[in-house]
Amino acid sequence: MTNTITLKIDGMTCGGCAAHVQEALARVPGVLAAQAPGGKSGNAIVRAENGVSVDVLIRAVEEAGYRASLPEAPDIPSATPQPAAPAPDFTLTPAHDYDLIVIGTGGGGMAAAIRGAEQGARVAIIEAGTIGGTCVNIGCVPSKTLIRAAEQAHRADHSAFAGVRTLTVGIDWPAIRAQKDALVEQLRQEKYIDVLAAYPDQITLIRGWARLTPDRQVAVGDRILSARAIVIATGARPRILPIPGVEETGVLDSTSAMDLERLPGSMIVIGGRAVALELGQLFARLGVRVTILQRSPRILPEHEPEISEALTRYLQDEGLRVVTGVRIHALHREGEKKVVEAEVHGQVFTMKADAILMAAGREPNSRGMGLEEAGIELDDGGFIVVDAHLCTSAAGVYAVGDVTTLPKFVYTAAAAGGVAASHALGDANARLDLIGMPAVVFTDPAVAVAGLTEAQAREQGYEVAVSVLEMKHVPRALAAFDTRGLIKLVADPDADQLLGAHILAPEAGEMIQAASLAIRFGIPLSSFRDALFPYLTNVEGLKLAALAFEKDPAKLSCCAG
Ligand SMILES: Cc1cc2nc3c(=O)[nH]c(=O)nc-3n(C[C@H](O)[C@H](O)[C@H](O)COP(=O)(O)OP(=O)(O)OC[C@H]3O[C@@H](n4cnc5c(N)ncnc54)[C@H](O)[C@@H]3O)c2cc1C
Repeated sequence: MTNTITLKIDGMTCGGCAAHVQEALARVPGVLAAQAPGGKSGNAIVRAENGVSVDVLIRAVEEAGYRASLPEAPDIPSATPQPAAPAPDFTLTPAHDYDLIVIGTGGGGMAAAIRGAEQGARVAIIEAGTIGGTCVNIGCVPSKTLIRAAEQAHRADHSAFAGVRTLTVGIDWPAIRAQKDALVEQLRQEKYIDVLAAYPDQITLIRGWARLTPDRQVAVGDRILSARAIVIATGARPRILPIPGVEETGVLDSTSAMDLERLPGSMIVIGGRAVALELGQLFARLGVRVTILQRSPRILPEHEPEISEALTRYLQDEGLRVVTGVRIHALHREGEKKVVEAEVHGQVFTMKADAILMAAGREPNSRGMGLEEAGIELDDGGFIVVDAHLCTSAAGVYAVGDVTTLPKFVYTAAAAGGVAASHALGDANARLDLIGMPAVVFTDPAVAVAGLTEAQAREQGYEVAVSVLEMKHVPRALAAFDTRGLIKLVADPDADQLLGAHILAPEAGEMIQAASLAIRFGIPLSSFRDALFPYLTNVEGLKLAALAFEKDPAKLSCCAG
């Protein structure tokens, strides 16, 4: 005799949760089948041999991290035999090829695979292109080493110190590029290829292009693979805007620009966010005449206006042209030159350069992978919609990194990869927490931010106070004869709460973490202000900016005394 028991489950938010509950119930001795239809249904239905008690089932659910109880309706009062109810289409968890299949070996996929292996899972990781994905091969690593090289050249030519003789340094682009390629190869080997090889029994690397089948298996070539859970970490690629003439004219993207055989004399950069500005300044510092064309009224439109305005000035001081509010109509070629036909505030103009760099955002690698057919929701841009557990709308399928709607950084991709794998393998509490997330734009001066902007804080209904401190008040900046930049703090003074920190300063990325931690862990603004910050460091500027809510920084002595 069998018995059908319905349990009310609390705490399920997604298909992954439903899979956990189902598996936990299916493991209870005497359970023949368990089903939690859809994460948000709130119910699980169990078919069990007579004698399997409700208490044991409830405990199994609780051990999986959820709460279970009998529904309030009186029709199923206990686990004693009930008249036969129509049996749902039960399937016990079938045997799978792997516990976890991860698609993509970038920062997100690697973190998911490693977390899976650490938890004893059998993991397959599938890669269609170069191992390591964007960050190491064509993103963070090559861009940051090239930026540093350009910065060295610029500093050597622009020292502010009396008595320091500066020499105009020669730029050997092929040597800089070769050094970048060597670093990329080294880090790809050490941080990706060797790391995967360190888990020979747990992680299987499969080469090929993966897609999902409608029944949520993974097809690679003619192989069909199954797993308890799938993590999609397929990243994104540069977006080429469909401007008339773009194909015939030929444009660079961030990847091809960093791999140029030789430097062009002039370059038009289309875009005004992180990648456009980082690469634009890098090429300008290597001697290329650079013009930035940005559609929004200001560069870095999501950042504080004070930062956009000041950074625009610094870039212009270095010789970059920055044009905002631009509508580009078409591109064409004139001999060796590339021409942009555009409009600013109703005025039509054309602009020529040796090269055009399109750095206007990235497109998700989600098309053609059978995602929608497998029930996975995409937003209008094709990015995969995920919740805080990284669950997609399809049970047992997770997504992380640039292919999702989440912020596009390698450390958020990696954090998400770890969370997705943990959740998929049974940790119902695993969730991604982005509170206080730091973000850096590697221009010089750099932009580093954490938390809310002033506008966001007001929109969210906080009582907002703002402190803006120019870097000329920071002793370290004075000693370095480099006082470019500012710090803007956003706070709720009544709640003694720091809400946001926005820095424009040389190496601002090295300063932001103090504020990020304060926001993330709710350190009161007064405690942050009273903490010791070492003299002379740029990060001391955060303390000065916190003091500047109440005091005039010009009236402070050394060490913010
Ligand atoms: C120029 C540039 C500079 C950047 N600088 C920084 C920085 O300084 N700091 C920072 O945090 N972030 C930076 N980023 C962003 C960062 O590189 C990305 O956020 C991060 O690499 C995304 O990781 P991911 O794992 O989501 O995807 P990816 O690293 O893109 O990996 C996806 C992988 O999936 C593979 N793949 C795709 N489709 C399939 C398929 N169907 N089957 C099998 N394999 C597939 C791809 O070949 C790729 O290897 C930069 C990006 C760029 C472009």
